[in-house]
Amino acid sequence: MKNIVIIATGGTIAGSGDIGKSADYAAGHFKVSDILESVPAIRSLASISTIQMCNVDSNDMNNERWIQLRDLIHTCAKDPNVDGIVVTHGTDTLEETAFFLNLTLHTEIPVVLTGSMRPATATSADGPMNLYQAVALACSDQAKGAGVLAVFSDTIYSGRDIRKSNSYKTDAFEIGHFGSLGYMRDDQVYFLSRSQRPHTITSPFSDMEIQTLPNVDIAYWHCGADLGLLDYLCQNNEGIVIAGSGSGNYGTSWRDHFHQLAKDHVIVRSSRVVQGIVFDSSYFDPDQDTIPSFTFSPHKAKILLMLALMKTKDKSQIREWFETL
Ligand code: ASP
Repeated sequence: MKNIVIIATGGTIAGSGDIGKSADYAAGHFKVSDILESVPAIRSLASISTIQMCNVDSNDMNNERWIQLRDLIHTCAKDPNVDGIVVTHGTDTLEETAFFLNLTLHTEIPVVLTGSMRPATATSADGPMNLYQAVALACSDQAKGAGVLAVFSDTIYSGRDIRKSNSYKTDAFEIGHFGSLGYMRDDQVYFLSRSQRPHTITSPFSDMEIQTLPNVDIAYWHCGADLGLLDYLCQNNEGIVIAGSGSGNYGTSWRDHFHQLAKDHVIVRSSRVVQGIVFDSSYFDPDQDTIPSFTFSPHKAKILLMLALMKTKDKSQIREWFETL
């Protein structure tokens, strides 16, 4: 039997509310050992050990917790008896943690994130099945070297492309333009595709020592957005990501200001639009002061920019990473 470690961080999968109801609950209530008791079938898949790293709503994940989680996974992965790792996590920011790990873990053993939309106390809670399938995927040889994965509602996602797209339904993650990697049927794994982009051991950031991360924040463009916001963010951060409209766009007030700000800061143009791609723009950035985020959402662009800034401030190198990772 394979040995799987479940690292619990909290989220709705550990949430508690009124018995039978799915609204108005507190995330991060039950311990992972309690959750496991509600899924006895997991014991037939693998020998399980557990680590309760924290028990928080995933909006309280942060740089320190990402680094702590990365270190914990590296420690587990060094044990030759460990075959795979499952991370339980809130759905709100699961994609941020998954993306961070996808770029920074130096291991090929399966690492699978999962969570739930309904708390453990709800009627038809979705956590038990998601956890069962995450353990099954972590046991699969097909998941080795596939990068950080996530399982949700019978679907396998890549840590690079997973994105929450529904704030309410149990099928909360987007299949979208980049698609899922495959399906689960109970404990059976059906991979249909693999991410072609560098990840884990082929990522330029996976062999880095990470103790802290540089400050990067996001400026959200909307009609009439305050110019002072950009100055404030630049005073407090090494880099900023713009969540622009359309293909990474903004009004003339912001456009005229970036030329000045880009002298001391790395600025990435991303988009608040969910689907699509952001390229260079001769109209919105005539002097090429900014770096386009290509396929990355603002919050994933923020993570990539933090990691990039740990290595260099060279804009052409950072641009290449945005285009190729
Ligand atoms: N607010 C919760 C969290 O992200 C939502 C969830 O887990 O689904 O922790």
